[in-house]
Amino acid sequence: AIDTTNDAQLTPVMRQYFAAKEAHPDCLMFCRIGDFYELFYEDAILVSRELQLTLTARDKEKKQPMCGVPYHAAEVYLQRLLRKGYRIALCEQMEDPKTVKGIVKREVTRVLTPGTAVDPALGAGESCWLASVVMVKGVAGVAMVDLSTGEFRATEFVGAGAWALAVDELGRVKPAELVYASGGLLGASGSNRSLKLGADPTQVPEAGPGAPSSVDDSDGAGLDGIKTKSAVEDWVMTAEHALPLLRSHFRVLSLDGLGLGGHEAAGVAAGGLLHYLRQQKQGALEHVEAVRFYERSGCLELDAVSVRNLELVEPLFSGESAQTTLLYTLDACCTPMGKRLLRATLLRPAMGLGEIEVRLDAVGEAAADLRRREGVRRAMNGLLDLERLLGRVAMDSAGPREVLALASTLGCVPRVVAAVGMFTAAKWMELGAGLDPLEDLHEVITATIVDEPPVTFADGGVIRAGIHAELDELRELSRSGRQALVAIEERERARTGIGSLKVRFNSVFGYYLEVTKANAKAVPADYERKQTLVNAERFTTPELKEYEAKILTAQERSLEIERRLFSELRAQLLAAAGRMRETARKVAEIDLMSCFAHLAALRGWVRPVVEEGCALEFVQGRHPVVERRMEESGAGRFVPNSLYLDADAGPSLLLMTGPNMGGKSTYLRMAALLVVMAQCGCFVPAERMRVGLVDRIYTRIGASDNVARGRSTFMVEMTETAAILNTATNKSLVLLDEMGRGTATYDGLSLAWATVEHLHNKIGARALFATHYHELTLLADRLTKLKNVRVTVKENAGGIVFLHSVEAGAASKSYGIEVARLAGLPNGVIARAREVLKVHERAESQQVREAVAEPAGKVQMTLFTPLSQRIVDRLGAVEVDSLTPLEALNLLAELKREM
Ligand code: ADP
Repeated sequence: AIDTTNDAQLTPVMRQYFAAKEAHPDCLMFCRIGDFYELFYEDAILVSRELQLTLTARDKEKKQPMCGVPYHAAEVYLQRLLRKGYRIALCEQMEDPKTVKGIVKREVTRVLTPGTAVDPALGAGESCWLASVVMVKGVAGVAMVDLSTGEFRATEFVGAGAWALAVDELGRVKPAELVYASGGLLGASGSNRSLKLGADPTQVPEAGPGAPSSVDDSDGAGLDGIKTKSAVEDWVMTAEHALPLLRSHFRVLSLDGLGLGGHEAAGVAAGGLLHYLRQQKQGALEHVEAVRFYERSGCLELDAVSVRNLELVEPLFSGESAQTTLLYTLDACCTPMGKRLLRATLLRPAMGLGEIEVRLDAVGEAAADLRRREGVRRAMNGLLDLERLLGRVAMDSAGPREVLALASTLGCVPRVVAAVGMFTAAKWMELGAGLDPLEDLHEVITATIVDEPPVTFADGGVIRAGIHAELDELRELSRSGRQALVAIEERERARTGIGSLKVRFNSVFGYYLEVTKANAKAVPADYERKQTLVNAERFTTPELKEYEAKILTAQERSLEIERRLFSELRAQLLAAAGRMRETARKVAEIDLMSCFAHLAALRGWVRPVVEEGCALEFVQGRHPVVERRMEESGAGRFVPNSLYLDADAGPSLLLMTGPNMGGKSTYLRMAALLVVMAQCGCFVPAERMRVGLVDRIYTRIGASDNVARGRSTFMVEMTETAAILNTATNKSLVLLDEMGRGTATYDGLSLAWATVEHLHNKIGARALFATHYHELTLLADRLTKLKNVRVTVKENAGGIVFLHSVEAGAASKSYGIEVARLAGLPNGVIARAREVLKVHERAESQQVREAVAEPAGKVQMTLFTPLSQRIVDRLGAVEVDSLTPLEALNLLAELKREM
């Protein structure tokens, strides 16, 4: 389709291409040429590789690489590239090639990026966030918007760790794209993480333009996990530019009106996002109604590491089935809005007692009343994705059928209102009373659009008869015109005696009479020849022309009217966007409460007692995810376990020992998940549960996945541990699993030892510590609130049986050797191992006993052989709290050299 004849250095098309490319250097340029989008040069090479397309050459001699995708099927290809993190510019033909002589004008009409182009295949429970981050006067601002639903929020972080907290927030949200000021972050935080951000993604030479800046998603947390990072110029992310923009977009006089008063950094982040959206030529943003300020501190804080470790919303290893997540296990929601709220709630469980109680009351009432509960759930069954439909209407990508779908969803709302009205708990009353049934909007849509509209507008027929007089008239006109044509066909057949004569239509020639070649001789003289085909002749007559004009103008005109009426309808709907969003929000909450109630009733879960104080206690608790998976796969029954911790009055720290595969991590995670569920307002799988509000859950669980990715395991582990020791409070819940594994035994043991002491003595957080350092169990003699527990096993002739029940006491140390024996290690090796162990145990227990007898602080001194004493001394002097991760690593390297 390409004109290659004109070759004065550059063909006109290529000149257009280069101009467009220059204006959008960071985008893959999709250039519309005829029925194809074509890509050239490095774009072509890259896209052909990513999408498995054939690479051709535009000019055989010059070997300009080129590849293309058909215009009609482009959507699929575009979405695949967006999911991979690329930016795309669409360079369209601005004129109809049929009407233009020579070269057609081309312009970039849209820029698609992963965070701004809404994927129609986006899962119901998923969100597609476009985020921004900025440092303003030492405060880190973060904003995010989901164009598929119009949700827009912003927050900010202050203090020394502001930047790290902002990065962590982004790690939890996992935006598809991040906007930042190209120079603004470099050096702003003193953290080397920001350097990665500062690197302009377009400067990655081997990956080519528009490439994801970091494809080797390392730990999925932090900024590394965000594939697309888009730089804006520095002035965009300033108070002078961003704040006025925000005010004018939302038509408010001050930021107070948006709840952003006094939150300049959050405001700048939000304004910067808006700027970026406008610059990307995104369609209407009417459904992005308001930006909401939120604070992370108002909820149970879960950092990105914990969200990942606990598999709250995503499996630990990407690509694994989502069935291992808490989200999957708890998702019995009926609507997409409910599913999204469930996900958001799991990431931000509540911290306010009142809020939690009110939810638990509502869940309790619905759990106890099957009939009413099912009433609500049935009423919600037909509800489609109200927020997304609204989003499509706003972005003008909603066809007649989507608008009708919106109506059918609105039509369900009154039933939901009625069903919720059957309950009496405060939360239900509040939700029911405030729910706008939106009957007027349902009414106006169904009154305007026909019952079964066509997919597109191309042929009209979307607007009902009887609402616009002129439209009705025009339709009648074209209908009678077409009837007249039928009459003409019959009459002409009779007149000419040509039985196969037909009146036909095409878009180029309009209406004509078609006669086969064989019959051409019989054509009367008043027929005018229009076109000759291989085996047919086409004619017209003055009469035909007259009808043609009538019909076509009538059609054109009525199509015009239909479009206008449709866009009036759209405007009317958008004017009510706020009401619809509010209803969607309430419906989501109703859905979530009834989902929790449904699970409670179905699975026999109980209402947790949530209180002030520092206890965490449950009786016969079950891990909701593992239990459900075991049921589904028929892999036996989950063994329930109990737990008692009380930072004030009981044990605050449990030290768990026992063989691998004994159930230690399952127990740890279960404790955290039950806390998350309770503070979300969900009932829990246990006989009883009591929990004093937890302000934050920390986890440091297994590092094997990072090892596989070639990271320094120990470094990752120490960074995470440092974060815990520096910020945990006596209201926190800390889970540490197999700490110290990534380094030499004595390093690891010493660090684990010191960590346990610190947690116990200084922080007083509720903590569960699973370890393979049996030596740590001796700490129970010294630390009054530390209790040893073990997972039980039974040995029999056939092998070792894991009983998975947790009981008091330290595990027998020789289990490793027992397990090895059962695994079939030669008897000689086993016997020798036992001898070696005995010698070690004797020597060590002597030393450790002495160490334990020493006052705290000097405790490690005699634990080790004289050879490592120097190292121990050094470690003794280290203040773990004040060490940065890098210093820790350097220190360790130094200690290693001294060994
Ligand atoms: P560890 O951390 O001690 O190595 P895990 O917690 O990983 O052990 O558990 C090992 C296996 O035992 C897992 O497959 C888990 O599903 C199963 N398991 C753990 N706890 C229980 C339990 N209470 N009841 C039944 N199966 C369990």
